[in-house]
Amino acid sequence: MSFLSVVESYWLHYTHDRDVYTLCIFGTWILNLSIWITCNLPYLLIDQFRLFRQYKIQPENEVDRREMWIQFIRSTLLQSLNAIPLWYARPLFVWSGFQARQLPTATTLLLQFLWFNVAEDFMFYWVHRLLHASKWAYRHIHSIHHRYKDPYSVAGAVAHPVELIFNFLLPTVLPPFLAGPLIWGRDGEGGCHVLLFWFWLWYRELRATEAHCGYILPWHLSQLGMKYLGYGGSAAHHIHHSQIKYNFGSFTWWDHLMGTTFPGREDGTTSPPPPPVDDKDL
Ligand SMILES: [Zn+2]
Ligand SMILES: [Zn+2]
Repeated sequence: MSFLSVVESYWLHYTHDRDVYTLCIFGTWILNLSIWITCNLPYLLIDQFRLFRQYKIQPENEVDRREMWIQFIRSTLLQSLNAIPLWYARPLFVWSGFQARQLPTATTLLLQFLWFNVAEDFMFYWVHRLLHASKWAYRHIHSIHHRYKDPYSVAGAVAHPVELIFNFLLPTVLPPFLAGPLIWGRDGEGGCHVLLFWFWLWYRELRATEAHCGYILPWHLSQLGMKYLGYGGSAAHHIHHSQIKYNFGSFTWWDHLMGTTFPGREDGTTSPPPPPVDDKDL
């Protein structure tokens, strides 16, 4: 019996009498909130108790712990408000053919997951570049996210509402919602399965917290082999926060293609780090 069929039999056993879209809506709300808390809590504790200093990218800097907890509580409350748009999202789940019964084949799951990564990276890179290319957009929208030159995990969610929608929310949810209608079809196993969607939400939050945490830890996705797939992780995004004009992507593919990769210290581990660029110079 394969791993997927074991997951499927447990899933069907516990959900067979539940409405598909109630599962999609309430499950997504609860899961998303739990994912947010469980992905950030380890980093909050690491910064609170100053653990793993040897892996900190800029060990000479201290996180403002009071502000860190305030931002965490603020963002947790904001995340809980996702219940409101989700409550009205039922027609969208129906339109895109979301599945919540039998799992698709392993090949379909893998191809859809690859599509999510490629589409999300494309959208994130270009919206992000636009936010830097326009002085108005940078000053009024993106500079809020860039207030941290040496970020910590929760700082990934500190952003203007326009950026939260166009640079974080849409690149995360559009690929799964368009998978069926654009590529695999809405019927049969074409629409995204809600379990794959939840796995994707978890993996996206894991990457976002990792990218902003300010550490390069041995169990990070980048250190577990994903850097060989072009994933920049905290080293690349940490440099983006301090050097501003480089490393716009989640992965490094678009940066390589468009010549926006930071020219030195790609791994972010050597010291001293380059002095941060002042936004006012832009
Ligand atoms: Zn960032
Ligand atoms: Zn930026």
